Amino acid sequence: MREKMDFNGACACGAINYQCSEAPLAMFNCHCGQCQLASGGTFVSAALVKESALSITSGNVKYFRSVGDAGRWTDRGFCENCGTPMFAKGEIAPGLISIKPGTLHDKTVFKPSIDTWASSAPAWLHLDGALPKAHKTPNLLNNKTSTKVG
Ligand SMILES: [Zn+2]
Ligand SMILES: [Zn+2]
Repeated sequence: MREKMDFNGACACGAINYQCSEAPLAMFNCHCGQCQLASGGTFVSAALVKESALSITSGNVKYFRSVGDAGRWTDRGFCENCGTPMFAKGEIAPGLISIKPGTLHDKTVFKPSIDTWASSAPAWLHLDGALPKAHKTPNLLNNKTSTKVG
């Protein structure tokens, strides 16, 4: 069973607040082209949780759909008011949602275990040599389910 854990977060303007009642199933940094665009920077960090464990306690999340390098859609959620990227849901992982850890009130909740699409990272980015590197999107949930994320 999943570890019981409560954590929460908010966007920059404070309109959107969320609460999550379970520990993340997987935590990773994704360097794919769509994540670079969605972050507006270099990569997206994500904590994957069950959608049923996440409650939006205030505000409305706006979603933008993009088709990723693997040909599947991802809906990326952000605050309409301040633009903070907050969540992502993918065709590849039904019932799951990822949380952007920059929105966490307790930043120590996020501990990435892998870099995905690492070969798409810019040459100047120094990646943590201690983390495994995946080309494309591996199965991050191991034997728990057959679901992949990305
Ligand atoms: Zn906001
Ligand atoms: Zn990505």
